[in-house]
Amino acid sequence: MNDAMRDTVVYYLTAGTLELADRARALCEEVHGKTVLLRALIEFSNTCALNCHYCGIRAGNHAFERYRLEPTELLAAALGAYAAGLRSFVLQSAEDPWYTTARLAAVVASIKSSCPEAALTLSCGVKTRAEYRELKAAGADRYLLRFETSDPELHRRLRDGIGLGTRLKALEDLKAEGYQVGSGFMVGLPGETEKTGIDNALLCAELGLDMVGIGPFIPHPATPLAGSPQVGLEKTLRMTSLLRLLMPKVHLPATTAAGSLDPQGREKMILAGANVLMPNMTPVPARKNYLLYPGKICLDEAGEKCLGCLRIRMLGVGRELSYARGDSLMEGAGNVA
Ligand code: SF4
Repeated sequence: MNDAMRDTVVYYLTAGTLELADRARALCEEVHGKTVLLRALIEFSNTCALNCHYCGIRAGNHAFERYRLEPTELLAAALGAYAAGLRSFVLQSAEDPWYTTARLAAVVASIKSSCPEAALTLSCGVKTRAEYRELKAAGADRYLLRFETSDPELHRRLRDGIGLGTRLKALEDLKAEGYQVGSGFMVGLPGETEKTGIDNALLCAELGLDMVGIGPFIPHPATPLAGSPQVGLEKTLRMTSLLRLLMPKVHLPATTAAGSLDPQGREKMILAGANVLMPNMTPVPARKNYLLYPGKICLDEAGEKCLGCLRIRMLGVGRELSYARGDSLMEGAGNVA
């Protein structure tokens, strides 16, 4: 940790939540202006081979319907987002073995050839460096892979025995392959301390990420963490501000989980220093089955309605929506090692 980071952490520990948010928001406006970047989120498979303890779609939960969008359905969803003017897509799935790298690469290539101006982000879990290379060659620009907690012991326990090192190695591989890379963490996981939260934020800064996604932990009733305490949104807001102060240029979404915990959660995250929103462009019938946590919002609003709602919400906090690609502002982003 360098001196500037240490000073920022000290400030974080001593400042009140509103003061922290004011400073983070002012810095965000200085670097990113008053626009909020849109990323169209398409959740294309909820079929997962893994068993993370916090996750509602873990393999061990059989109490809901599994789905997988066919490649043609995935392309159609992307075309719908493109037609709505969006130029940044996030294709997200659980760790679904049916979607082999070859199948995924073929979909990526078809979306990129049909939507040439769009930036394409994948969020499909841990793969080998060679697989990341293949997907990059097919046209993927960015990759999201949250580490969820930087505490190695907690990580191993909550990710059903998988070590933190696996994710950190994958993040390193993604950088080396020239992706713009995003990661992030949950706020308020059972077993974490104040120090864990600060370590999480510092790890994001040390990794030099282009994007950071965080959200509150919301216990899901069909997981081993059912009945765990739910922390309020304030912790997530404070962490948003800390991240903005540590990483002025990073793209930082106001996440749906925050909006699920508090009806004004996304607006509050924007006012605490976030600069991105991720409207859900998954076909409506599939959405209700991508429930990583309970009470998820925006399950019924189709594309245009969702964008209209977000526009009004953002006007309410003095922000305009941007449909642009919104590439990384970090120096050297996307350089191949
Ligand atoms: S967090 Fe991801 S990898 Fe873990 S069980 Fe859920 S969908 Fe699967």
